[in-house]
Amino acid sequence: MRGGREFTITVAATAILVATFATCTRVPRMPAVDGAVVEVRRSDGLLGSGDRGYDATLQLSWFGTACHLIQLGDARVLTDPFVTNRLRLAGMRSDPARVAETLGRVRPPDMVLVNHSHHDHILDAYAAMAQRSWRARKVPLYGGRSCKNLLAGWGDAEVDGRCHAVPDAGGRLPVSRPAPGYTIKVTAYRSKHGPHLKCGFTLADGMITRPRRSAPRGILAFQAGEVFNYLVELSSPSASLNVFCLGAPFDLDKLEDSMPPAGTPIDVAIILAPTADKVRGYPEEHIARLRPRHIVLSHFNTFFREDPDEQLAVAGIDFVKMRELSRDLQSTFAGDAGYPEFEKLHIPAITVMGEAGGARNVIRIR
Ligand SMILES: [Zn+2]
Repeated sequence: MRGGREFTITVAATAILVATFATCTRVPRMPAVDGAVVEVRRSDGLLGSGDRGYDATLQLSWFGTACHLIQLGDARVLTDPFVTNRLRLAGMRSDPARVAETLGRVRPPDMVLVNHSHHDHILDAYAAMAQRSWRARKVPLYGGRSCKNLLAGWGDAEVDGRCHAVPDAGGRLPVSRPAPGYTIKVTAYRSKHGPHLKCGFTLADGMITRPRRSAPRGILAFQAGEVFNYLVELSSPSASLNVFCLGAPFDLDKLEDSMPPAGTPIDVAIILAPTADKVRGYPEEHIARLRPRHIVLSHFNTFFREDPDEQLAVAGIDFVKMRELSRDLQSTFAGDAGYPEFEKLHIPAITVMGEAGGARNVIRIR
């Protein structure tokens, strides 16, 4: 009888311990891991021509989702023009006010690169390309054939003439007329869109095989199409730096050529945050191969709400799991003596453009 009571007490105590442990494992963990320091610093502004270090500093502006302005002095490349931050099942349109306060305030880039044709990568492409100063500068845009066919839907022959289809196999893209003293080289690497769900499902994963005759208005009109990652190499009279835009990571065992060959020196890798738990080996294997000096996290803000300055959370659920991703990257690479190239992990705030051409929340890299 006594033994039975002791047994009951032992089982109860064990249950309490297990319950306590289970609760403890859900307690928030340290934002920094052993071997890393999370550094918070005052945001930088945008250097302008005439500022010291202007043509030797790589400047990265981020307008949310995968829309980045990559700039070295007077060489500029813009990726994935999407700033509207709104989702409609039908009647989805670019927001002129949001475009005006972002892409309307940046100097026309030398080129625009599109990773794939989902709405959150391309919805504002036409509005950007149709701006008067961009027409005058003849800004070219590159994306897959589906991207060009989609943009044909706006029925603007002048813009259509500046939209180019990247060859299906990828490769080096032509770059027209960078500023004197500058060069830009861009190489496209064919990839695939990772799944939106762990079961492997990808929304709107088709091709657009013919030029559209009307502007796309619903989310399913924006099929992903061909998918490309880009290596952007910029050089100015005083510096050369490169940026790899890993907008579509995929299983490297299946798509080895979706990234530059091992051993290519990479200064900056802009990497997608949301796919971390859905693509095998991502991001560890991809970072281990790229070994960039700087890692910049991307595509982690909400694109469902008007306020782009919010963490991606739908119905209170943090699908991106940014803290876990940040901790994983720190623990895997920050303290890795076998990866001496690593300098910093950047988690950017949305860049805010001023009316006079200045900006805040710009990442500067030398
Ligand atoms: Zn997508």
